[in-house]
Amino acid sequence: MAVPRKPQTSRDPGTGLTGLAAREAAEASAEPTEAERQELDAAVELLAGRRMALLTGAGLSTDSGIPDYRGPDAPPRNPMTYQQFVGDPVLRQRYWARNHVGWHHLRHAVPNAGHEAVVHLEERGLLTGVITQNVDRLHSDAGSIRVIDLHGRFDRVLCLSCGSVYTREGIARLLERLNPGYLERVAGEGDIAPDADAEVSDTEDFTVADCPVCDGMLKPDFVYFGENVPKDRVRLAYAAVDDAGALLVAGSSLTVMSGLRFVRHAAREGKPVVIINRGQTRGDALADLKINMGVGTALQYLARTLPDPGAGVPQHPGRHSD
Ligand SMILES: [Zn+2]
Repeated sequence: MAVPRKPQTSRDPGTGLTGLAAREAAEASAEPTEAERQELDAAVELLAGRRMALLTGAGLSTDSGIPDYRGPDAPPRNPMTYQQFVGDPVLRQRYWARNHVGWHHLRHAVPNAGHEAVVHLEERGLLTGVITQNVDRLHSDAGSIRVIDLHGRFDRVLCLSCGSVYTREGIARLLERLNPGYLERVAGEGDIAPDADAEVSDTEDFTVADCPVCDGMLKPDFVYFGENVPKDRVRLAYAAVDDAGALLVAGSSLTVMSGLRFVRHAAREGKPVVIINRGQTRGDALADLKINMGVGTALQYLARTLPDPGAGVPQHPGRHSD
């Protein structure tokens, strides 16, 4: 079984940022252009007086130096499926080797101004919850309180046999003991994806760690392609949308149904949907407003411009029965 490889791309030496991430980082502190400001003001008009559920994707973390999967400049990728991971020891070995390298890069990422703006929105009582497709934990690191990690967390590892939960930090130390010198040998070899998948070719000698308790199979706490988001997590995310009077999407192309379904749900309920993303999304046709711009700048503008919830505008009637 062949797993398609993404094409080799170069990274800026020294910074670890891709060209896209560097560009977005430069824009992070930028004010919106006049045209963007007009669109953002239209969003403020739509969202004013409503509490929002916020759905975020990889476009929010590019300012933190984490490359996007599907941004306009991102190379096409085809991530490993759950079936490939559990069914093929060679692919699993390759996955862990690449994850080991990628994790060591991404663990140092810190929240950016966009994450800070989300914290500000929550502190002002404007959010019912943050539903994120990112596994990087940067919303929680920034200080957001109600975060639903839809696709899992890159700081945890699960045993598929006994259900033990491990810190990724601890498993990293275990992998280092099993593979002395490996990180140094492959350093700087290739590109990194938001799920900590590093472009590394030398994986045949990598020793995979088994569960320290039962010798079972370990897997990063991600929702893989071909795997369902756990039901209780989906329920919490729907509850955040149901508690809200509007849905704001920031930095997701909504390529996978796990995120798109919340847009469909909000639209069905007649709640305003605003999408901020650089490039097309699968939810554009359902959105009341789509703004094509960097999400960091947009969220900062909304956080300082939106009026307090309920200020002069009637609240959404509230929870519906589904
Ligand atoms: Zn176990």
